[in-house]
Amino acid sequence: MKNLFLIAAFSFGLAGIAQNTSYWQQHVDYKMDVKMDVKSYQYKGKQELVYTNNSPDTLRKVYYHLFNNAFQPGSEMDARIQSIKDPDGRMVHKIKVGDTEVKESRIKNLKPNEIGFLHVTNFKQDGQIALAKEVGTILEVTLAKPILPNSKTTFSLDFDGQVPVQIRRSGRNNAEGVELSMAQWYPKLAEFDFEGWHADPYIAREFHGVWGNFDVKISIDSNYILGGSGYLQNKNEIGHGYQDSGVTVVHPKKNKTLTWHFIAPMVHDFTWAADKEYIHDVAKGPNNVDIHFLYKNNPKYIQNWKNLQPKTVQLMEVYNKTVGNYPYKQYSVIQGGDGGMEYAMCTLILGQGDWDGLLGVTAHEMAHSWFQHVLASNESKHGWMDEGFTSFLEDYGLNEIAETKVENPFTGAYKGYFWMANSGKELPQSTHADRFDENRVYSITSYSKGELFLTQLMYLIGKENLLKTLKKYYADFKFKHPTPNDVKRSAERVTGANLDWYLMDWSATTNTIDYAIKDVKENADATTVTLERIGRMPMPMDVLVEYADGTSESFYIPLRMMSFEKENPTPAIKRTVLNDWAWAYPTYELNITKPKSSIKKITLDPSGLMADVKPENNSYIAK
Ligand SMILES: [Zn+2]
Repeated sequence: MKNLFLIAAFSFGLAGIAQNTSYWQQHVDYKMDVKMDVKSYQYKGKQELVYTNNSPDTLRKVYYHLFNNAFQPGSEMDARIQSIKDPDGRMVHKIKVGDTEVKESRIKNLKPNEIGFLHVTNFKQDGQIALAKEVGTILEVTLAKPILPNSKTTFSLDFDGQVPVQIRRSGRNNAEGVELSMAQWYPKLAEFDFEGWHADPYIAREFHGVWGNFDVKISIDSNYILGGSGYLQNKNEIGHGYQDSGVTVVHPKKNKTLTWHFIAPMVHDFTWAADKEYIHDVAKGPNNVDIHFLYKNNPKYIQNWKNLQPKTVQLMEVYNKTVGNYPYKQYSVIQGGDGGMEYAMCTLILGQGDWDGLLGVTAHEMAHSWFQHVLASNESKHGWMDEGFTSFLEDYGLNEIAETKVENPFTGAYKGYFWMANSGKELPQSTHADRFDENRVYSITSYSKGELFLTQLMYLIGKENLLKTLKKYYADFKFKHPTPNDVKRSAERVTGANLDWYLMDWSATTNTIDYAIKDVKENADATTVTLERIGRMPMPMDVLVEYADGTSESFYIPLRMMSFEKENPTPAIKRTVLNDWAWAYPTYELNITKPKSSIKKITLDPSGLMADVKPENNSYIAK
């Protein structure tokens, strides 16, 4: 029975400040009509956006991203390139000042016809003019009337854009000669979620957007071939390799432009690219998904792009099996001519370079379809949840489709992390992606340390449980904005283990793991091994003992605060589960019922999945 009086009193007193912990998310329905002038690289568009406020808040302001404005001299992005210790090599060029060579921001000297811009006019809310103020890469809108919880409103606006010479990601006429890489090109409503507004300026890092539906019409010179997000609605009118088989498409001579009509359901971004010289191939992926490949007609790399097609199909099969089915009807791998970047239903990647690079970048960017474009965590705040988990799936998937598999395909990530942890430069993973002093430290934190969150979770709960966790995480949080706690809870729900300590230590601190074999002592006919925890971060312990006679056995020391016993990861070797080791005790004694002379070698974590920053003290070898 409950104390009804107390409950009633508390509910009454706290009603005004009650914490709302139930999940909600905003919803957008975009309609855009765009005309691209391929001579001036300028475009004009109209946007109508139906915004659904599912939050418990009344909104009086909204914010849009105007990403193109970053590519202007004096922008925050330009300033950041000039002040960060290790600017991205793609965003600088080298110039001579006296006798010394210095790196100069490529944005700094862009001419007016080379910069990017995106300006909004005629902003209306339900037909009423609202005040819209451009502040760098953000548009701040003071609404004509408040948007109440659980209500809809319609925003309409006109926009004028200029595609910048490509500096990063989006842009025109890049080094590989791709004419239009149209990422982050339209006024994009910023996300408002349970944490509040995420109107981050575009400085360097990645994106967070509102889930919804896009209906986009792009009018462009009829010689251009497009690829991108969404499903082409008028494929038999457009042709260019999109038409149904057997259909011949002839564009009437008088039609100098074509209007491409795309619909993209349940995405949080819309991206496209266009070029006159794209070759367009289509491969059938699993579950009848069309995988489009658009790449320049260049004999140097055509063969690589042909070879890439069956590999991409295989990778999608592995990703489907590992995490969950790709939920859209198409995916496009598009030569965008700069690095690699993931977008909804597509990626823009470098087209040149060697085979391994092309396969690797495709494996990575397509893996982002799961970790970012379906499980859309906030990349600015938790870059490790998309870059790290994507890197995990990339390495796992590439190993699965390789002719010769390796035991641990994640060793590269460990190397990067060990360097960073021992460098003194590490910042907690919870640092905002734009705040890192060095690009290198951001990258290792997000990609490598993020990947290790999962590989080390495999050490904690076992491989089978890790794979179950990924599937549960996907099933429970697809088309949402999962947070670090959500992935941790998925693992807890699958295993029953307590993992809060793991998430905290790993993602919110720079605590490191360092366990050691402190001493191995003869004890009559037995041996006492003293283990020591030197690092701040706790871990359960797998100990492998190899004997001189060629036999071996293993011991497992559970971590008390985890309340969990892992399955034997190597069933071929007999394992003994010992008493748990609680964190506060710096040492632990392990007794082996055999004489010291019979022991050849003792190893802590033979799998190498635990990110012990000083592996040199993890083994004992008999002299
Ligand atoms: Zn990535």
